[in-house]
Amino acid sequence: MEYKNIESQMIHGRMRLNDTAHSVNVPIYQTSTFQQQTLGGNPEWEYARTGNPTRTALEDLIADLEGGKQGFAFASGMAAVTAVLSLFRAGDRIIISGNVYGGTFRLLDKVFENFGITYSIEDTADPEVLEEKITPDVKAIFVESPTNPLLTVNDISAMAALTKRKGILSIADSTFMTPYLQRPLELGADIVIHSATKYLGGHSDLLAGLVVVNSDEIAKRIGFLQNASGAVLGPFDSFLLIRGIKTLAVRMDRHVENAEKLARYLEAHPAVRKVYYPGLPDAQGYEINRRQAKNGGAMISFELEEGYDTKTFFSSLRLITLAESLGGVESLVCHPASMTHAAIPEEIRLNLGVTDRLIRLSVGIEHADDLKADLEQAIQRSRI
Ligand SMILES: *Cc1c(COP(=O)(O)O)cnc(C)c1O
Repeated sequence: MEYKNIESQMIHGRMRLNDTAHSVNVPIYQTSTFQQQTLGGNPEWEYARTGNPTRTALEDLIADLEGGKQGFAFASGMAAVTAVLSLFRAGDRIIISGNVYGGTFRLLDKVFENFGITYSIEDTADPEVLEEKITPDVKAIFVESPTNPLLTVNDISAMAALTKRKGILSIADSTFMTPYLQRPLELGADIVIHSATKYLGGHSDLLAGLVVVNSDEIAKRIGFLQNASGAVLGPFDSFLLIRGIKTLAVRMDRHVENAEKLARYLEAHPAVRKVYYPGLPDAQGYEINRRQAKNGGAMISFELEEGYDTKTFFSSLRLITLAESLGGVESLVCHPASMTHAAIPEEIRLNLGVTDRLIRLSVGIEHADDLKADLEQAIQRSRI
């Protein structure tokens, strides 16, 4: 089935409805193994770590949504990142941007370094500076756009053009955008990663990671790693994720509509010192983001002025929940310095701009007026 619009594709996927009951939804194949008809045949399904029809339906769906060759589903975003980093070997170096997801930094810093795979932190927002940093041991550039929690925009096309010229891989963690808003493979990246725990699942009720690649050769290697290391997504979570993706477009539209309203409200607020949101015209990377993504997404970070107590602000919120994670229908707020970015050494963290005053908001799909009212009363209560 060819789709003109991604909204329809999200709901119908490849329409693999070959089960005997003609189920409208992809059935949950809750099984670890499959009967083989003959000895030495080449069965489509044999053991569920290698492949399970529910997971495959999800993998086909995300591959199509990203415009890639093949998709892979993992037990979490970090399992997906682990599989991708396992493409490399001792002696290889990977360039990452300063404010990559804390878990990705920790994995490189505390796990992959032990195996001789090193990393360096560079300013990936400036492709010209980046080019000089590509020494012969650099085998990949790994970026997010926009990044967490400062919503820095990285130019994915420029990065991909650079890595192609150098014969190395470009990897984009597109969790904050989803294929509805941004498709890195179409911008030239080799590998796209999602923590599907966030917007793709959308209801804060599952952990999942997805990888999509645009070449058969990399697909073969990721498929091998997925089966070899085994952190696959189970059939029930695969089903939940397919279900979540069906409503991605309508959810994202509301997420973004609310985020745009709240970003403008915060930007104009006398108690707010700084707002980070790539959908605001004077934000860093606004133009690049407009070229490579549909809009600014629904993550906002901000700092209150000196006369306001950040801790009191957090404890005064009533509707907006203090919690890690993002991308669910409910609005969540977090304090990156002590929560998501606690694993990053203080000096590096402060250098990046992740100050103790920084507040990160995952804008949900509640009524925008209710969100605004909750923020307003919390700001007023936090006045020192
Ligand atoms: C949450 C997140 C991850 C990790 O995903 P999990 O599903 O929590 O393992 C990776 N990258 C980004 C940008 C994230 O937000």
